[in-house]
Amino acid sequence: MGIIEKMRLDGKKIFVTGGARGIGKSVATAFCEAGADVAIVDVDGEAAERTAAQLAAETGADTVAFGTDVTDPGQVDAMIAGFLERYGKLDAAFCNAGICLNVPAEEMTPEQWTRVISINLTGVFLTAQAAGRVMLRQGYGSIINTASMSAHIVNVPQPQCAYNASKAGVIQLTKSLAVEWAGRGVRVNSISPGYIGTDLTLSSESLKPLIAQWNAMAPMGRLGKPEELQSICVYLAGDTSTFTTGSDFVVDGAFTCF
Ligand code: NAD
Repeated sequence: MGIIEKMRLDGKKIFVTGGARGIGKSVATAFCEAGADVAIVDVDGEAAERTAAQLAAETGADTVAFGTDVTDPGQVDAMIAGFLERYGKLDAAFCNAGICLNVPAEEMTPEQWTRVISINLTGVFLTAQAAGRVMLRQGYGSIINTASMSAHIVNVPQPQCAYNASKAGVIQLTKSLAVEWAGRGVRVNSISPGYIGTDLTLSSESLKPLIAQWNAMAPMGRLGKPEELQSICVYLAGDTSTFTTGSDFVVDGAFTCF
């Protein structure tokens, strides 16, 4: 079997949080195109239903939607139970749901801080933990967490201390889980995207004026596209990355290189 055939995900069952739109939807599309069946997990349940139906129609994959808030352990457990009832196993999990909040540190309220950390860091922990429990029982599985280049540098000029801290936490969480579970067949890696054109960046009124500035700072002179994160996630979810765990993959068009 050639390397491209080995990279396919035929028969694999995967869930994607934040899968209704943006990076999650794009990566879920790639998983389906590579042969997997995919659950779209999103706090916006209606959008998750639409995305799951669209992917099934376009790729022929067996998809399902879960309206799940990743900050709620009870909802995460219910999602996992529903997932296993439908698919019987869990091969990979893309723990990707996240939000961005741009507030100067001196003005940030405890509620704002907690909301960002709850979704971006605790939400990744809860979904990765729930996936890990299933995968440890099975003896195999691959977890991919979404961090950000903001885990590595402080983006300017927008103030986003909670976001940056949450994403740095995702990388160290990923490494911790990878080490704890390395001997039991469960791999855990993260991706650190640079600026990507999604609702998160393009539909935020506070960020819109900054796009020209980011493009000027970017070595490639542009934002990334969600589909430019697809292949790294297909690689991490599949069987050609069996020695890859505890790693963070920066995909940022060299933004963090200088
Ligand atoms: P997006 O806003 O387009 O999509 C995020 C999705 O997450 C939405 O569908 C939203 O409903 C869902 N979501 C939010 N809170 C949730 C919750 N509590 N439970 C379940 N789902 C929830 O954003 P995106 O740009 O696709 O970002 C996806 C991930 O990538 C985020 O973690 C983000 O921080 C990260 N990221 C994005 C960029 C970028 O430039 N777009 C760069 C680096 C990292």
